[in-house]
Amino acid sequence: MFGVVPKSIWQRTNPADENNMCSWAMRCLLIENGNQLILVDNGMGDKQDQKFFSYYYLHGNATLSGSLKQAGFSPDDVTDMFLTHLHFDHCGGGVRINESSQKPELVFRNARYWTHTDHWQWATNPNPREKASFLQENIMPMKETGQLNFISKEEPTPFNNISIFTADGHTDKQMLPMVKYKGHTLVFMADLLPSVGHIPLPYVMGYDTRPLLTLEEKDRFLREAAENNYILMLEHDPVHECCTVKLTERGVRLDRSFPLSEIL
Ligand SMILES: [Zn+2]
Repeated sequence: MFGVVPKSIWQRTNPADENNMCSWAMRCLLIENGNQLILVDNGMGDKQDQKFFSYYYLHGNATLSGSLKQAGFSPDDVTDMFLTHLHFDHCGGGVRINESSQKPELVFRNARYWTHTDHWQWATNPNPREKASFLQENIMPMKETGQLNFISKEEPTPFNNISIFTADGHTDKQMLPMVKYKGHTLVFMADLLPSVGHIPLPYVMGYDTRPLLTLEEKDRFLREAAENNYILMLEHDPVHECCTVKLTERGVRLDRSFPLSEIL
């Protein structure tokens, strides 16, 4: 998760267990936008086999359906399923196996599923390095039901009050929604900034396909975030939901972290 940074450094903030596994979150964002109910990412789901879950084991009591219920909604209420990118830990919760037919079906039956045209090409013809992250059982059912919709350079956002920042370092055309809300700009950082531990520039994940580009994108974006006081929502941070950043002599650093509920 921290690329070239030595474990002796990162384990102080993100301790690993005896199997060298760390705890991470798969936080999603639900946006009520006029008469749209937009869900941003949906975790990894639970349809993979035992072997898969021995590498990426689910833990904790939170579930996506439970959290939706807590917010007063059901999966059928979601009108738009926005996918930052199609790695399994961001889109696997959008497809499940039907118990009686044993066939895949979409969890959000009434939703348009959104991806980027270029990212779709990238994910459906994967390079060998990223192949293990693009699981076809998560991806193809969206297309087969006809619920898949595309964001592109020509049509950069389908939503009012939400613009989309694209980044190409982690994967091709990762999309970060930038939401205008009560005078704030809230940015869902996905894998451009998975946790507060990734704020210093060299902390780039080993998963990134173009790490030098991530460095540039992070540098540019974090400076902009510091200047404009963006609220950054952290998908994978096990502790911190949101943070702001500030410019210091050593570069951009954490300003403070807080739960999303603080601005709701
Ligand atoms: Zn990813």
